[in-house]
Amino acid sequence: MILLDSVTKKYPGDSELALDSVSLHIEPNEFVFLVGKSGAGKSTLIKMITKEEIPDSGKIIIGGIDLDYVKKRHIPGYRRRLGVVFQDFKLLPRRTVYENVAFALEIAGMSNKEIRRTVPKVLELVDLLDQANKFPDQLSGGQAQRVSIARSVARQPKILIADEPTANLDKLTTSEIIDLLKRINDFGTTILVTTHNENVVNNLQKRVVTLKNGKIVSDQKNNGIYSLDNTPIPKQPARKVQTPGHALRPRRKII
Ligand code: ADP
Repeated sequence: MILLDSVTKKYPGDSELALDSVSLHIEPNEFVFLVGKSGAGKSTLIKMITKEEIPDSGKIIIGGIDLDYVKKRHIPGYRRRLGVVFQDFKLLPRRTVYENVAFALEIAGMSNKEIRRTVPKVLELVDLLDQANKFPDQLSGGQAQRVSIARSVARQPKILIADEPTANLDKLTTSEIIDLLKRINDFGTTILVTTHNENVVNNLQKRVVTLKNGKIVSDQKNNGIYSLDNTPIPKQPARKVQTPGHALRPRRKII
């Protein structure tokens, strides 16, 4: 669960608030898009959750943890409980695909035996088992993003946060990455994605939270539409939702 209660943040030197009394409640297993123009406060909201920035006021509780009580020395451990995916992948350039995933598990304290068991499974999930020995500069953008997602989900986080995960990808690759995030969501992981991609948001028919000038100006719980200025959204005819078979399966472990 992600809970922000009246969170306000102003960066030193700025005249405007980056977040202005933002309250947001995301239930376990939800898939939520966070949208808004550049400067609306999306990254700041994500940084509140990852505790890269501290709010001036308000309360943040993530997966039952009250972030006020996460001391500085415990922040890296707290962050490892979240999966975080970035637009620029942030892979280790001198390590192979396999090693990038293995390294994340090593840092998390997993035994070598368990790492050897887990990495192939997670690479299979993102369809990269056959690329395990390649280095990041030998991968396409979509493959690199899949490694980054593999690395994040290998530790079985309950919450996965993706900040503009498709910003550097073409249309086809974007839809592959979104499909992968959907699959991870079907396994029971809460997903929060920031994006500027109108098609992705409109096609997925998920919850859409819109930020404007640091405030939540709309929160469409179902079948959300990308509408940055909060202009009235035309009433839509009921859309036939095609449910993939795997969405009906009971929750189970990702790997
Ligand atoms: P978004 O991710 O939606 O583009 P941000 O959260 O990056 O928006 O920015 C929200 C506001 O906070 C903007 O006015 C931006 O200029 C300001 N801001 C963001 N990061 C900093 C920072 N490190 N120092 C000062 N101001 C910042």
